[in-house]
Amino acid sequence: MKEDLSLKDGSKIAIIGGGPAGSFFAHFAQKWIARKGIDVSTTIFDGKDFLQRGPRGCNLCAGVIAESLNEKLKEEGIFLPEERIINRVEGYCLHVNNNNLLLSCAENDKNSIATVFRGNGPRYSTFPEIISFDDFLLTWVQDRGTKVIPQPVWEIQLPKKKNNPISLLHGKKESPNEFEADLVVGAFGVNTYLMKKMQNLGFGYSPASTLMIYQAEIKLDREKVLENFGNTIHVYMPKSKAIRYATVIPKGDYITITLIGHKDATKDFLQEFLNLEEIKKKIPLFKPQCFCYPRIVVSPSKKPFTDRLMMIGDASFSRHYKNGIESAFITAQLAAETAFGTGIGTSSFSHSYYKQAKKLIIKDNYYGQFLFSINDMISSIPLLTQSHLSLANRKTNKGSSRKLRLILWNMFTGNIPYKDIFKIALDIRLQTSILFNTMSLLFQKFKYAIEKFDLSSTDARSTWSSKK
Ligand SMILES: Cc1cc2nc3c(=O)[nH]c(=O)nc-3n(C[C@H](O)[C@H](O)[C@H](O)COP(=O)(O)OP(=O)(O)OC[C@H]3O[C@@H](n4cnc5c(N)ncnc54)[C@H](O)[C@@H]3O)c2cc1C
Repeated sequence: MKEDLSLKDGSKIAIIGGGPAGSFFAHFAQKWIARKGIDVSTTIFDGKDFLQRGPRGCNLCAGVIAESLNEKLKEEGIFLPEERIINRVEGYCLHVNNNNLLLSCAENDKNSIATVFRGNGPRYSTFPEIISFDDFLLTWVQDRGTKVIPQPVWEIQLPKKKNNPISLLHGKKESPNEFEADLVVGAFGVNTYLMKKMQNLGFGYSPASTLMIYQAEIKLDREKVLENFGNTIHVYMPKSKAIRYATVIPKGDYITITLIGHKDATKDFLQEFLNLEEIKKKIPLFKPQCFCYPRIVVSPSKKPFTDRLMMIGDASFSRHYKNGIESAFITAQLAAETAFGTGIGTSSFSHSYYKQAKKLIIKDNYYGQFLFSINDMISSIPLLTQSHLSLANRKTNKGSSRKLRLILWNMFTGNIPYKDIFKIALDIRLQTSILFNTMSLLFQKFKYAIEKFDLSSTDARSTWSSKK
């Protein structure tokens, strides 16, 4: 499909946001520019300095780099340097109702999962080298020809005629500079006023719905981190009306705590988490030096495009609760493919970019939401938790036990599409094993209750007869 609006020699692309989505788009754009041999410039605008420590330099994220993303990066020739990787995590440990399940990388034929800091480390940290993940990506594309303007964009003005460029106002708010672009790529995430501005442009964009999360980095010292958490990401599903999931991620001397609630997080979340019996002995009760309340995408944006303008990354769609950075990679790749291969008008974006993103992310998220709801239901009923975890914990690498571990592994690492996980969950032998295991546990509980009742009534009878 060809249409009138397209990129040609002399075209200018403005990318708003230098987080993963913006840098990945610049990377793919550079590849297309070289492949097509056209003279198109790419400019990223971002007022954030990733060399700063604490929330000022950070894009507020837990910093787990999924194995699947790592593989995609390698295919693109992007190798994350060792000094930017804080930990190599060896697996996940799930904690539900005092039951634990360890899911290891080795069992799943994966080497390890990397953890990073998005900015240059927590507030007041002292690392001898630059460690920021976002800085690495931004520098990568800058070194390959993308211009970076370290300023925020304040306004976007759509042209009256579609053949004219879009105008951006950037720099100082009181005396902004103007930049005219043939294509504007909105990679500004969901923690910005720009979402509302974009919606107010009136072309039909409705931003992604979000949930506020609580996140903190706590310094414990490396030995303490290893002693209490090992090289494992811990996922807690506590019995709590407020907290739905809590994760503790080891990162060198630090741990990153991420608390996801049923509703927007409040400052009480941390207190409640630190007061959990299993956490009390591992993390001291003090106020973290570095914490934030970022927003996570929970449902996709609507119509994230119009002529010459498209949104990518969190500003468009992201995978349900997992691997947002990988979603940024996928949307950036699809967006560049459309812009260079098809066109930069509404119909190209709708028929190519949106259609593919819908299939890969939006539709798959329905399966994800369903799987996480089932997981919530199972973890809220002790008998079901016990039957699932006891089956998964069986020391066998075959059959239903292995399948159940595979489901949980992929749900928590996000390594394969939710649809594929759903298919594994439908396996009839697995469901039969879960049913039998649950019945057997139920039977044991009844037997125990009857024995206890018998015992206490015998005691009562003997006490009564001795009294007589
Ligand atoms: C608590 C939490 C934990 C998470 N953990 C993980 C995880 O472990 N692994 C994972 O893969 N994903 C995780 N995610 C999701 C991940 O953070 C996002 O999906 C990812 O950062 C999206 O990338 P992005 O580039 O679209 O947006 P962002 O990373 O938010 O980047 C947007 C950029 O746009 C810039 N910007 C904003 N407004 C303007 C403006 N007006 N002008 C110029 N620039 C602007 C910002 O400064 C920022 O640099 C987590 C999210 C949350 C909230």
